[in-house]
Formats: sequence, structure tokens, C-alpha cells
Amino acid sequence: MAQDDVLIPAERLTAFIAGTFAAAGASAEEAQEIAGNLVGANLAGHDSHGVVRTPRYLENARLGQMVFGGKAEVVTDGGAFLLLDGGFGFGQTVGRQAVEIGVERAKREGVALVALRRAGHLGRIGEWAERASAAGLASIHFVNVGRSMLVAPFGAAERRFSTNPVCIGVPNPSGEDFLLDFATATAAEGKILVAMKGGKAPPAGSLIDGDGRLTEDPRALYGETEPGAVPDPRKGPGALTAMGAHKGSGLALACELLAGTLTGSGAAGPGEGPYNGMLSIYIDPNRLDDGFGWGAATADYIAFVKSARPADPAAPVMIPGDPERQARAKRLAEGVPLPRETWESLVAAARSVGAPEAA
Ligand code: NAD
Repeated sequence: MAQDDVLIPAERLTAFIAGTFAAAGASAEEAQEIAGNLVGANLAGHDSHGVVRTPRYLENARLGQMVFGGKAEVVTDGGAFLLLDGGFGFGQTVGRQAVEIGVERAKREGVALVALRRAGHLGRIGEWAERASAAGLASIHFVNVGRSMLVAPFGAAERRFSTNPVCIGVPNPSGEDFLLDFATATAAEGKILVAMKGGKAPPAGSLIDGDGRLTEDPRALYGETEPGAVPDPRKGPGALTAMGAHKGSGLALACELLAGTLTGSGAAGPGEGPYNGMLSIYIDPNRLDDGFGWGAATADYIAFVKSARPADPAAPVMIPGDPERQARAKRLAEGVPLPRETWESLVAAARSVGAPEAA
């Protein structure tokens, strides 16, 4: 934690953010859901998808790019597959609805494919896999971002993709669940936003300038931003890089195709008001199990992986999902650290919508 950081108990931060969204026009219930999701990302250690997003969400709502009171409408119901239209409702609302439908169908059919198009920003995708895991289901999520171009394909010096997260969750009935959740960009855009707001520097190798050369200057993505203005990732001359060279670039393209062009949500491109498409697959492991015992096999293998001799004796081997659990335990106990600039931008955002000062 940096010396200038503000440390806020999660409950208090949630109430403050919920108050802001309620003042901006969300129902008390939806405001609480949005705030809970954003603070949940901070608790999981993913500050890039936490409360730092509040000013931009408010701007999206003000411009009608994300709407309060959204509902995931069923466009096609094919039994084990569904096409849903999020109607640009807040992702915290329509994303949760889509997951509930997917969980219900997978319990009924053994497997369910849910194509959600035109959702407002779905935030930390891991939250959706965590919900599926909590219901005893494995899940796979491919996500793209319409009206957004941030990432250069492998070998390119200009943007074609967005940050396109991939997320896979596998429940572990007698231990810690597996939760792999990452952007196919070397760094999620929000991590560069954190750097722009005075937080940690962008991860090495995550940004190129307009000539395709690596840089650590977040202005490669946002350009120059007036003090107090919301940084706009469309404005910079450079791009984010895809993770894992040609492999990550290929995965990013797969997200565009699976979540963008196959769902009717639309692939990445220029425009105002980014939104998410998400293709999700939910699997009930019990329905695959003819008696071999998937639960014990999963738990045993995860324990075997974690028992690998660590390269650094002080850093035991973790599985995906462990860092989030550790961050959550620490931050629930100690509070959520926020760079002072982020905190000040939240107070300004609350004032801008006339929210009662909660802190
Ligand atoms: P990241 O680089 O921090 O990687 C996170 C993943 O790596 C997690 O599964 C974590 O458990 C695992 N991990 C980290 N350290 C590990 C270790 N030492 N051992 C084993 N596993 C380890 O994540 P990111 O790419 O910065 O993405 C951050 C968040 O941004 C994600 O939650 C993603 O869903 C979200 N995102 C959302 C959108 C959107 O449009 N909604 C777009 C991009 C990213």
C-alpha cells in the first residue's frame, strides 16, 4: 500500500458507491448490486475493475450508453442454448440475470450455452464463474467488447481488438475452486487507468506507442487528459499488446468471433460507449460422472499441483483463484486500499450526482 493511499472498510465503500449510483438514477437494489460488484472486484485484488470505474459508468449512464433497470431479454430459447439481449443494461444486472438463467438451464439439461449480447460493462468476469462454481457448475466465458478498439493484433502497430477476457471456473467440492480469469491483452485496460490515476505503473510489455515501440507511458493509450476529465482510451496514439504473442492474439480474435460475431453483439470497432458480448458454457459435472467421482479426482489433482516444489520456498505454488481469495481475506480484514487520486475522483463523482456524502 502506498503512503498516500486511502484505506476504507469494504462495507463503507459499498454504501458510498451505492449512494452515488442511487443518486444517479439507479433503484436502491440495483445501486447496491453495482456497488457490491465493483467493491467485490477491489476485494478480489482487481482494482482495475473496481470502484475506479464509477466516474466512467456514470458518464455511460448519463449518455444513455448503459441503462439502469435493464433486463436480459430472451431472444431465442433452444432449451440447452439461449440467446439473450442485454439491451445495454448495466452488466452487473443483466450479467447476473444471464448467469442465473445459465445455471438453471445447466442444472436441467446438464449443459447450457448462453449467448448474451449488448450487455453494459460486465466488470470482473470471474464473478460470473464464481457464481456458477458456487452452484456446483463448471463454466467457460468468452467476452468481447463492442465499440472499443484497444489492442493491436500480433505483428500489428495499430488496434483491432479490445481486451477480451477469457474465464474458466471449475468447482472443487473439497477445497479451493479453480478460477482462471484474465484479459487477452497483456494488461486489462483498467490497469493502465490505475496508472493514469497515480497507481502502479503499467505491466512491462503491455503498451506500444504509435510507432509500435514498447512504452510505460499510460498516455500512449489515453493521450493528454485535462485535470478532472475522465481518461478516454480511444484518444492515445498507441495500443495495448496482446498477451502471449501470437497465442494470446489468437485467443483475442476467438473472443471477437465467439462473443461478438456469433452472438450478434458485434465485434470490436470504433464508436462511442463500449459494451460486452459474452458466450458462456455451463457444465454440470454430476451429469458427466458415471461413478468415477469427479469431485475427489478434481480435489486430489489440485492438491497435487499445489504440492509442486516451489522455485522460491517463500512462495508456495498457487492455483488460479488463490490470489483472489488471499486478497479478499486481507482486504475484508484490513479495508480496501485506494490511491488518493481514485478516492478524490469518487468523491467528485458522488458530488456531481448530488449524492449524500457518505465518507
Ligand atoms: P491477471 O493478469 O491479474 O490474471 C488473473 C488470473 O491469473 C486469475 O485467474 C488469477 O487467479 C491468476 N493468477 C494470478 N497470479 C497467479 C499465480 N501466481 N499463480 C496462479 N494463478 C495466478 O488478470 P487481468 O488480465 O489483469 O484481468 C483482470 C480482470 O479484468 C479480470 O477479472 C477480467 O475479467 C477483467 N476484464 C474485464 C473486461 C470486460 O470487458 N468486462 C475486459 C478485460 C478484463
